[in-house]
Amino acid sequence: MEYQAKELFAKHGVAVTAGEVATTPEEAQAAAERMGTCVVKAQVKAGGRGKAGGVKLAKTPEEARQHAEAILGMEIKGLTVHRVLIAPAASIEEEYYFSFLLDRANRRYLCIASVEGGVEIEEVAKTNPDAVKQIAIDPGTGVDEAKAREIVAEAGFPDVLTDQAVAMVQSLWTVFTEEDATLVEVNPLARLAGDTLEALDGKVSLDDNADFRHPEHASFTDEAAADPLEAKAKEKGLNYVKLDGAVGIIGNGAGLVMSTLDVVAYAGEAHGGVTPANFLDIGGGASAQVMADGLDVILGDEQVKSVFVNVFGGITSCDAVANGIVGALDILGDDATKPLVVRLDGNNVEEGRRILDERNHPLVTLVETMDGAADKAAELAHAAK
Ligand code: GDP
Ligand code: MN
Repeated sequence: MEYQAKELFAKHGVAVTAGEVATTPEEAQAAAERMGTCVVKAQVKAGGRGKAGGVKLAKTPEEARQHAEAILGMEIKGLTVHRVLIAPAASIEEEYYFSFLLDRANRRYLCIASVEGGVEIEEVAKTNPDAVKQIAIDPGTGVDEAKAREIVAEAGFPDVLTDQAVAMVQSLWTVFTEEDATLVEVNPLARLAGDTLEALDGKVSLDDNADFRHPEHASFTDEAAADPLEAKAKEKGLNYVKLDGAVGIIGNGAGLVMSTLDVVAYAGEAHGGVTPANFLDIGGGASAQVMADGLDVILGDEQVKSVFVNVFGGITSCDAVANGIVGALDILGDDATKPLVVRLDGNNVEEGRRILDERNHPLVTLVETMDGAADKAAELAHAAK
């Protein structure tokens, strides 16, 4: 959220005005009394708040209270506003756009900058792409002062702002690298009366692979917006993404799980249009506990009507996976309530199938092929709807 991004900006010397966060109209009014003319800004993890009516200027504390009342509870891009930021109103002369991001396709970083920033930046990029500069950054050298000067010159910031802009670009680069971000965006980067530069809005995406280096980032999580099943999966260290369908999916290896989603969606077309309920990659070493944790999360999803366990035995052999499934069903006991379609192949598949046959669990159907299993899982999900 903007106020969190601004905390990170301030920490690394980027010019911002912090403001105060309010969760009620009364708090907003009290903050405005300390500030005078101010802006009331919806705090959600989405852009386009201004256009959605989530950014309003207030000349009096009473007006700030009214704006907060209107904005709190508002939905912006599907997210409910629980907080507003009250910030002293800035007197803006010009609005610029600035960002650093990861350019995966070219295996480097990219700076995007424009002197035509503001809420219409997407439109500018479409109708006048030359006004939006892209400057490649070599990950080996990053952004030193010379590179910052190159960026500022290319972007075309006015001469009187050059030195401030160079310093700000370097500070934003520090935010990007020190905080392990994949995106740092400032829009507007504002030229204020008196020719000072300030980050009036900020958006930062943090790379959660680096969370272990930043225990302090945990406070940025939006608990209210987190999906409870995803939160539970995260707690158990599972690679889970909630989707909208009725067929729960467990597989080993991200590639296999991705193709399983496709195959199930395709099979579902013949069974009332059922689709996958989730992505879940249990990785290598499908132990009973990991399988049980995975099933537990998936069975906790009310939308799930059947589960497709699709495992290719590689380093982890199919008998270990079969024991994992049997063990998981024993761990879950009566909590396992939905039909399971299992497809096993690869290393030691005969033994794996034998174990499942022998256990002969009433909920489990063993199907030999991936397409056949997808079809069966879709059929069962449709029948249970
Ligand atoms: P976004 O729409 O989610 O990107 O929200 P922003 O924080 O960028 O605000 C949208 C627009 O509101 C900005 O482009 C500014 O034009 C305006 N705005 C934001 N803060 C202020 C402020 O302090 N004073 C004034 N006058 N305008 C502001
Ligand atoms: Mn903005």
